Amino acid sequence: MTFDAEQFKENLTARLRRQYGKDISQANKHDLFDAVSASALEIIMPNWMETRKAYEAKPTKQLCYLSAEFLMGRALSNNLINSGIMDQVKEVLKGMNINYDLVEDEEPDAGLGNGGLGRLAACFLDSLATLEYPGHGYGIRYQYGMFEQHIEDGYQVEYPDNWLKHRDPWETKRSDLAVTVKFGGQIKYGKTPDGQDRFYLENAEEIIATPYDMPIVAYGSNTVNTLRLWQASSPNGFDLQLFNDMQYHRAVERQNDAENISRVLYPNDNGPMGKELRLRQQYFFSSASLQDLIHHYVNTVGTDFSKFHEYHVIQLNDTHPVVAIPELMRILLDEYNVGWDDAWNVVTKTFAYTNHTILAEALEKWPIDVFQRLLPRVYQIIEEINRRLVIELRQKFPEDYYNQNHMAIIHDGKVYMAWLAIHAGFSVNGVAALHTELLKTQELKNWYTLYPEKFNNKTNGVTQRRWLLSSNPELAEFITKRIGHGWEKELSLLKGLEKFADDEASINELIAIKRHNKEKLAEYLKHTQNEFLDPESIFDTQVKRLHEYKRQLLNVLHIMYEYNRIVEDPSYNPPAHTYIFGAKAASGYRRAKAIIKLINAVADRVNNDRRVRGKLRVVFVENYRVSVAEKIIPASDVSEQISTAGYEASGTSNMKFMMNGALTIGTLDGANIEIVEEAGEENAFIFGLKADEIIKMKSEHTYNPQKYLDRNPQLAKVVNQLVDGTYDPSGMLFKEIHDSIVYGVEGQPADVFFLLADFDSYCQAQEQIAKEYADQKTWARKCLLNIANSGKFSSDRTIEDYVKDIWKLKKVTVK
Ligand SMILES: *Cc1c(COP(=O)(O)O)cnc(C)c1O
Repeated sequence: MTFDAEQFKENLTARLRRQYGKDISQANKHDLFDAVSASALEIIMPNWMETRKAYEAKPTKQLCYLSAEFLMGRALSNNLINSGIMDQVKEVLKGMNINYDLVEDEEPDAGLGNGGLGRLAACFLDSLATLEYPGHGYGIRYQYGMFEQHIEDGYQVEYPDNWLKHRDPWETKRSDLAVTVKFGGQIKYGKTPDGQDRFYLENAEEIIATPYDMPIVAYGSNTVNTLRLWQASSPNGFDLQLFNDMQYHRAVERQNDAENISRVLYPNDNGPMGKELRLRQQYFFSSASLQDLIHHYVNTVGTDFSKFHEYHVIQLNDTHPVVAIPELMRILLDEYNVGWDDAWNVVTKTFAYTNHTILAEALEKWPIDVFQRLLPRVYQIIEEINRRLVIELRQKFPEDYYNQNHMAIIHDGKVYMAWLAIHAGFSVNGVAALHTELLKTQELKNWYTLYPEKFNNKTNGVTQRRWLLSSNPELAEFITKRIGHGWEKELSLLKGLEKFADDEASINELIAIKRHNKEKLAEYLKHTQNEFLDPESIFDTQVKRLHEYKRQLLNVLHIMYEYNRIVEDPSYNPPAHTYIFGAKAASGYRRAKAIIKLINAVADRVNNDRRVRGKLRVVFVENYRVSVAEKIIPASDVSEQISTAGYEASGTSNMKFMMNGALTIGTLDGANIEIVEEAGEENAFIFGLKADEIIKMKSEHTYNPQKYLDRNPQLAKVVNQLVDGTYDPSGMLFKEIHDSIVYGVEGQPADVFFLLADFDSYCQAQEQIAKEYADQKTWARKCLLNIANSGKFSSDRTIEDYVKDIWKLKKVTVK
């Protein structure tokens, strides 16, 4: 992009003047962030407009990535780097005596997602644009994103994330493209104004969906794609009659109810949702997005929908937008008079579904009564889809009444959204090789028997532009100095670093870079939460959502064990170790919250015990989010990826760590398996039971956790310390955690996630880390080999896989 320094300066001062009535000397950091961003958008805008024109000039297939979550993080640095004007902007700002780093830090994260699934959507958009594919994101403009986490007295306390408090300089409101979404009402059949007989809704509640567009800037090309987020509002504003009657509360009630649909992100990661408002959100953005696509199609191609799938492919990010399937049927049937078979033909060629989890509680199902009341016509269409499916099932599985019942989209009083997606979509993909295998052989076995051709794997990836080039500039420079540019768009080129594995100067430089990143993180944590980290120590990091299957508790139990050992044996002198945690717990997830309290209780005790000073430290980083991940990951030596094998579908932080030269301590789960395949088993610390062993023990009920307590007195002691007053004088705070491991609670068996079974092997892996870290050069060599072999985990590779097997998109070059 062309950069005119004088023009940029002029835009910046003009924005400050117009928007805030200030000149540079009066502007505060926020004003500057807003003005710099707005001025950058001015530069990006021509390409954004050109991209739209290019897509319209020569209609080709477009991808619509439908996702309830986009965990975008900050935009400014990303957009400056991708559009290639970072250095010039910094130069201009320097000339105006403005420190870019302070401006950057003013931007709130766009935290419109929970964790991996939402961040994946964000990485995909970056890759799609960079690879010059016409692919756009569609989601919800939540007024409040992922809650802000404070730690108070060791407990998580949630505060609303009011990220739109000040305007977002990156978005453009497109009132001209607003559409109406209908809820409730009664189904009627009869003549509509155009004289046709068809179904329509009477007395339905109408909600306005207004799109807000964000630019998705390609790295190194002119493409600027769009993330379109829908906001809900009432068509009638408030009720003037009630207002005049001085019933102010009731006058605005309807308006508030409408706006509530896009009010707040549900903070449940991999957990049950089940709330009616959540289904409203899902239908709201699915319907609005489809209407948008249909308008586009009708305007460019016309009302012959037999070619719809040649111009549109819709990827469903998990089951959240699956209601789009019957909604497209409804639009075709009721609004365009397409017959059932023709409509079904369109639908089954348009939708593809990504499964993100095998946790049963995350597979969405809605009670029939809720669904039917909220979306009567859509429900009726699902009934017809289901009626036809059941006929198919009877033919495919005669006499197999279990499958005939359980594979029905509607059964046991509920609507099974995943079944709808698998039946109606033409593709079902898992997100790592093991995950897809488990879908085919375990969770979705019946469906794999019915539709084997639909199943495929797409191992996740992350964008190296954000997770390496932007977040770790020193490592990026180290790489470019050795293999040149190119890796920013073709990560497999990192392989060229392998030949520096035995180059002493390179190894020393790599050590120095990691050291400097650790110092920067220490500085940041001193500043933000008055924590003191020793950059000499091993930075051993577990950052991800708090969930039992991710086993933060295993990490903590090991720290408690290590603490006992140092205290009891003065001759035991392991290298200094800093354990870093960052994690948000879903607000209603009691045990996850108790684990956060436990981490902080252990930190409190360990960090204040002189006997372990300089050897052991535990830090809980508050309010973990994308912008914090960008600081923590480049500063980490060890990447904790310790989920119970078979439970983590893929993981993506494991990939970010690998790219940044952290060594993985992990189970053979999700994409860890592929990471080790690429890096070499000798360059990681693998431990624990394998997925097939866990599956076997679960199905045969042979797991006996007590055996491990009897066998290992150190482990028994640690588990007992959960209730003996060591970390909580009352002995009650962690009793529920203790009992869940030792006895099992609420009808669950003991130690559901096999902590005790994997404890010994985890301790051994940790000992190996302590031993190998002592030899800095050999350690750094392994880091280098991890970086060199991380090419597979670029989301560019993932996107090319989707394009080739599922989307069949063609590149569009923007002039
Ligand atoms: C990458 C990322 C995640 C996903 O982490 P996993 O360890 O793969 O679960 C979650 N949250 C944030 C902020 C991330 O950047």
